[in-house]
Amino acid sequence: MRKFLIAGNWKMNKTAAEAASLAKEIALGAGQQHGVDVLICPPFTALAAAARAVESSTIKVGAQNMHPETAGAFTGDISAEMLREHYVTFVLVGHSERRSLFKEDDAFINQKVLSALKNRLRPVLCVGETLEERESGETAAVVERQIREGLAGVDKDQADPVVIAYEPVWAIGTGKTATPEQAQEVHASIRKWLGDLWGDAAARKTRILYGGSMKPANAGELLGQPDIDGGLIGGASLEARSFNQMVETALETKK
Ligand code: PEP
Repeated sequence: MRKFLIAGNWKMNKTAAEAASLAKEIALGAGQQHGVDVLICPPFTALAAAARAVESSTIKVGAQNMHPETAGAFTGDISAEMLREHYVTFVLVGHSERRSLFKEDDAFINQKVLSALKNRLRPVLCVGETLEERESGETAAVVERQIREGLAGVDKDQADPVVIAYEPVWAIGTGKTATPEQAQEVHASIRKWLGDLWGDAAARKTRILYGGSMKPANAGELLGQPDIDGGLIGGASLEARSFNQMVETALETKK
C-alpha cells in the first residue's frame, strides 16, 4: 500500500551541466517505470537543468532546502514559489547537515514544513540522532521530539504529501549503516508517533525512508524491513549506476 520512494540527495555537488548529464542517465535507467517513485535533489543552481533532463520520464525533482517565507529580505535564500517554477515537487527539510552546520532548530524546520504544504510542495522531514545521543540511550526521545515539533500544526488531512526520512547522523557519509533491525526499530516507533498525531490509517499510509550510507550492497535488506519505505541516499546517488541499481532493488523487493 506504500509505494517505495528512492531519493537522491546530491548535496553541494554537480554543476548544472553535470547535473543534466547525471539526471539523463538516471532517467534512461529508471525513468520509464511506475512501480517505484524516484526523486533527485540537485543543488538550487542545477534544478532547472535537471528538471529539463528528466521531463519526459517519471523521475521527480526535489530541492534540498527552502525558506518558509514567500519573499523578502532573506539574502541567499529561496522560496517555495521559486522552486515550483523549476518543476520542483518535493523539498528536503531539516537534513542533519542543516541542523548541525546551519543551526536550524525544530521550530524553524516546522515553519518550513508548514510553508511547503501551503505551497504545494511535499516535505521530506529528516530526523535522526547523533552517535552521542544513541550511546546515551536518547534515540527515541530525540527522534520523537523532532517528529512532534517538526510536524506541529500539520493536521491529519494534510498528512498525505508528508514523507519522513530517518537518518541516524552517525551513519550519514560515514560508511556506517544502521543494521536493518536498528533501523526497523526506529521506523516502527516513528509510525507509532505518527499514529498518535494523525491516527493509524494516516500513519500506515506515510512513507518513512531510511538514510545513512545506503548503497546497492545493503539496500535489499533495509528495504525488506516492514516499515522502511525507501531510501534517502547521498554518496551513492551521485553515480547513475549505483542509484539505478537501488531503484531496481526496490522494484524487486516485495513487502
Ligand atoms: C544524506 O545525506 O541524506 C545521506 C544519507 O548521505 P549518505 O548516503 O552519503 O550517507
